[in-house]
Amino acid sequence: MAVKQMQYLIIGASAAGMAAAEAIRKLDSEGSVTVLSDEQDMPYFRPMIPFVISGKKKFSEIMLIGQGPYQGANIDVRLNSRVETVNTADQKVSVKSGEELPYDKLLIATGSVPNIPSDIGGVEAEGVFVLRTIADARAMARRAETAGHAVMLGGGLLNLKAAFALLERGLDVTLIVKSPEILSRLMEPDDTVLIRNALNKAGLKLMTGSSVTRILSDSTGVIGVLLDNGGEIPCQMVCIGKGIRANVEFLDKSGILVDQGVVVDKFTCSNIQNVFAAGDVAVTFDPITGQRIVTGLWTNAAEMGSCAGRNMVGRPSAYSGTFGILNATQVADEPFVSMGIVHTKGTDYETHIAATPKAYRKLVFTPDGTRLIGALFIGDISRAGLYRYIIRERMSVKDIKSDIVNHRLHYGYFLR
Ligand SMILES: Cc1cc2nc3c(=O)[nH]c(=O)nc-3n(C[C@H](O)[C@H](O)[C@H](O)COP(=O)(O)OP(=O)(O)OC[C@H]3O[C@@H](n4cnc5c(N)ncnc54)[C@H](O)[C@@H]3O)c2cc1C
Repeated sequence: MAVKQMQYLIIGASAAGMAAAEAIRKLDSEGSVTVLSDEQDMPYFRPMIPFVISGKKKFSEIMLIGQGPYQGANIDVRLNSRVETVNTADQKVSVKSGEELPYDKLLIATGSVPNIPSDIGGVEAEGVFVLRTIADARAMARRAETAGHAVMLGGGLLNLKAAFALLERGLDVTLIVKSPEILSRLMEPDDTVLIRNALNKAGLKLMTGSSVTRILSDSTGVIGVLLDNGGEIPCQMVCIGKGIRANVEFLDKSGILVDQGVVVDKFTCSNIQNVFAAGDVAVTFDPITGQRIVTGLWTNAAEMGSCAGRNMVGRPSAYSGTFGILNATQVADEPFVSMGIVHTKGTDYETHIAATPKAYRKLVFTPDGTRLIGALFIGDISRAGLYRYIIRERMSVKDIKSDIVNHRLHYGYFLR
């Protein structure tokens, strides 16, 4: 009797979706693997889209083909294919074109969408952007050809990257944040000095404790922003970076459990049989705090996507969770890694800080000092992977504490 070929269907062709497709293909060479994307471009490395704004990279240089998790081998990636509904009873999805596609195993890997706060007026004007896709990056680059001044709303990582890209293009850039500091999710105000200095040097004007109530425009598009104190700043483009949320609206009537994102078990399976989820759209857990979280990070999405792919093929593969905060990236050419618990103000965590003009290191231990639970490196991120391992494995650090604190830890330690 002929064995039925499995039909694997993946919604979302990015870090999680393509990593899953590749993992499936490695384990099942016969089944069909179809990946649906609502974008118009083949998969690309999303964290690099700011380089397309600055002009430092062409799209062809940030594509995933031949790099990262995507190899394209017998994986059918269909562009312009927005999934509108998922029918879990009949195991099929409907695409905007009207087509219906059946599945045996389905992966939701639709990532996240930017938040646009409802209390800012005028967001529909030409010249107002959010940065999520390569299409957004291209549109920003086009506007930047004629704009002289850009205003960025929000001081998170994505907006800082976008701000730096525009500075590199030669625009004047003002960043407006309500909180007293930038990057407040990833570090505390005192931790940001090196990054602030780098942004100042690059020419960024930073306004903290302020917010914009309205974006002003005329027939040419954006002409300025109105501040909550009544002041106005003239500008020709605005970029809104006010956080992200899981992209789940199309699952409304599917019966798939959603709570901040798609809720999955440790085998990346949702409450509905044969439906899995991974990446920014999925709710996972933080191994340190045990809390349920949605992460918003490329490496996590790719790791979780691979794991989901193995589970879809029937090779049970538990996902070990990820830190609520974990970021290895750079802003204004300043590399940094932030992981685990790094907000210590008002707590009794044991904290060690080492700061030089070029590098900053903050290490956070449990109050009894026996376990490392968080680390922040700015400027010098060498050996950060070791610290990640120690935190994630919840290791007792009794014998290596002074090596950790004095940054003398090396991989050899773990070979003993
Ligand atoms: C500017 C920027 C800079 C970043 N920098 C960093 C960084 O330095 N480090 C880091 O770790 N992370 C960074 N990130 C975050 C990282 O890119 C994401 O965590 C990662 O892309 C998540 O991957 P994903 O596969 O879960 O989802 P996504 O990459 O969001 O992909 C989901 C895909 O699904 C598509 N889709 C959505 N709905 C549908 C539908 N209904 N039908 C069909 N297709 C659909 C989307 O269009 C998209 O192509 C950055 C993100 C941005 C935007």
